[in-house]
Amino acid sequence: MINAKARAVDGPDQPFRAAEIERRDLDAHDVLIEIKYAGICHSDIHTAHGEWGPVHYPLVPGHEIAGIVTAVGPAVTKYKLGDRVGVGCMVDSCGECENCRKGEEQYCLRGNVPTYAGVDKYGEPTQGGYSTHIVVTEGFVVRIPDTIELDAAAPLLCAGITTYSPLHHWGAGPGKKVAVVGMGGLGHMAVQIAHAMGAEVTVLSQSLKKKDDGLALGADHYYATSDPETFQKLAGSLDLIINTVSANLDLDAYFSLLTLDGTVVNVGAPGEPMSLNVMSLIGSRRSFAGSMIGGIQETQEMLDFCAAHHIVPRIEVISADEIDEAYKRVLASDVKYRFVIDTSTM
Ligand code: NAP
Ligand code: ZN
Repeated sequence: MINAKARAVDGPDQPFRAAEIERRDLDAHDVLIEIKYAGICHSDIHTAHGEWGPVHYPLVPGHEIAGIVTAVGPAVTKYKLGDRVGVGCMVDSCGECENCRKGEEQYCLRGNVPTYAGVDKYGEPTQGGYSTHIVVTEGFVVRIPDTIELDAAAPLLCAGITTYSPLHHWGAGPGKKVAVVGMGGLGHMAVQIAHAMGAEVTVLSQSLKKKDDGLALGADHYYATSDPETFQKLAGSLDLIINTVSANLDLDAYFSLLTLDGTVVNVGAPGEPMSLNVMSLIGSRRSFAGSMIGGIQETQEMLDFCAAHHIVPRIEVISADEIDEAYKRVLASDVKYRFVIDTSTM
């Protein structure tokens, strides 16, 4: 077993504490990664707080992992010592089902193995990236391009791929009007990626507090959803809305902004059901869709796309002792735009 330092939480209302965890010895295809940075995703908060259902505590969250390869199993061919690598929201899948064979491992028919709060093929609970080391099978490790710093790379592993995948799938590009709801970790990536894909980008944020940043990141328009005029002005004008909000919204108000055949894709994942009047869809043949992260090959493609287009997450690097405070600030929408833990402070 390999010992790692970590930050764990013991229950939904508990603070983070220092912990020692064990990582498995390397199997033939395993890679040992010394984690340098781990992003804080709102999903970590939903999970740690038990909002998505019961979880196994102690829990070490973190699925935006950037680090360096420090050991490889005997059959590893993709990576060598010293490589700069990343791990996202999943660490394994069956590899055999129809979806895995299509490179959509996130939709593995037997269920992918999440980076934390899951159970691996050895029957052990998985523990995430708020930690100094992790062991992952090489097929679920991606390469971080040299031009992206490791701290800034971390958020790409979830926030980046979760927005890149639906933007790509629903054809964001020249001639498409795309709106991003919520200027948080995912939202600020969606703005940059949609802009780089050539779409006309609108941000729909609760207020205009982050307007300058939104425009600097590539948005063409920026509106406050607290202003009822926003919904009148934009009625029937948008082709695609990516909803990154972590809480429930009045969906019908957002559907009224879509064109004929427009789509709202929810990537935001609040724990409570949301209601929708089907008339919002029927009237203009609109669609409501969801999307979960992206496949491994697609994650590599996203990293290379971000490197090629000089897309970089805006981050605030924190020490391991500041996780509780960072959670509070994320919940207050006071994050610009991703907290990233420097694991050397563990
Ligand atoms: P985040 O950084 O907290 O950003 C969410 C943003 O939503 C906030 O910055 C805020 O933006 C807006 N918001 C928050 N509460 C709101 C409310 N009550 N009403 C209206 N707007 C509100 O979170 P994140 O890390 O980007 O994650 C966002 C959501 O995506 C979470 O639910 C997370 O679990 C989910 N997620 C899903 C996937 C997937 O695969 N589908 C992957 C990762 C994350 P403004 O201040 O601009 O309004
Ligand atoms: Zn995430």
